[in-house]
Amino acid sequence: MSKVKYYYDSDSLSYRKIERKKRKTFAFISVFLLASFLFSFILFFIANLYIESPKEKALKRELQNAQLQFELLNKKMDEAEAVLANVADRDNNIYRVYFEANPIPDEQRRAGFGGINRYKDLEGFDNSKLIIESNKRLDILQKQIVVQSKSLDEITVLAEEKEKLLTAIPAIQPVSNEDLTRMASGYGMRSDPFTKVRKMHWGMDFTAPRGTPVYATGDGIVKRADAGSSGYGKHIRIDHGFGYVSLYAHLYKYNVKRNQKVKRGDLIGFVGSTGRSEAPHLHYEIFKDGTRINPINFYYGSLTAEEFSKLLEHASLENQSLD
Ligand SMILES: [Zn+2]
Repeated sequence: MSKVKYYYDSDSLSYRKIERKKRKTFAFISVFLLASFLFSFILFFIANLYIESPKEKALKRELQNAQLQFELLNKKMDEAEAVLANVADRDNNIYRVYFEANPIPDEQRRAGFGGINRYKDLEGFDNSKLIIESNKRLDILQKQIVVQSKSLDEITVLAEEKEKLLTAIPAIQPVSNEDLTRMASGYGMRSDPFTKVRKMHWGMDFTAPRGTPVYATGDGIVKRADAGSSGYGKHIRIDHGFGYVSLYAHLYKYNVKRNQKVKRGDLIGFVGSTGRSEAPHLHYEIFKDGTRINPINFYYGSLTAEEFSKLLEHASLENQSLD
């Protein structure tokens, strides 16, 4: 209830009621409301600018934490990259060189992904750069691991092959020859023991008493153990694979049969003088892809450099072979 107000009218010399105009009142209220509204709006705007709500604070903390975690992840990627680079380096400079494979170029190992933009979905955010960069690094890392893994698979196959080759090739002397005195005649032009004519001697002769053990010089399969070839008498042929065959002639007795698998160092027979032979000895030949080659180059498996040069000296003497 508003009070009724009066005023003194000097013209009529009486008190008169003050009549407030309704229009004026309405205008007054409108202005007041508008001012209040504007004032609170400005206040809200300022508060919003400078004062964070608890929800905003929580979100901000989460964002900071996410960025920190990204940084830590990138540090871990640094370490992973360093380890992988080290493995790749050893792979290129040791393993692949050892097994005679070409090194994998760096561009191939570290290649990114060309063509379409794989990171389009990640664009347009405040932290897009961080996320895209991290993704790129991980993608390259992943690709490097695939390349490295394939390379090691390849190396494994090569190593197995090399291992097989190393055990297969005839790499020791076929008789025990510790003091290297059993070498009688080497590969090359020699005087024939029967005709005394100079002719090619295709193998090496080791003098030894009848019954001296003869050993397989590499892993392989016995292809022949018979006296069917003229001149060689009782002889053994071993196929070592990789194009290598070894032949042991003029034997007294066999210790293996045809198609038998043998390992390097297995006792396969005994020295004799069967076939075209002047005295008990072992005639030893090595074939590579069907051609006879000098066996002297294959004894590295069991000899020192000094022993080898002594053997070489013995073998190169142009004497009479025992055939
Ligand atoms: Zn001979």
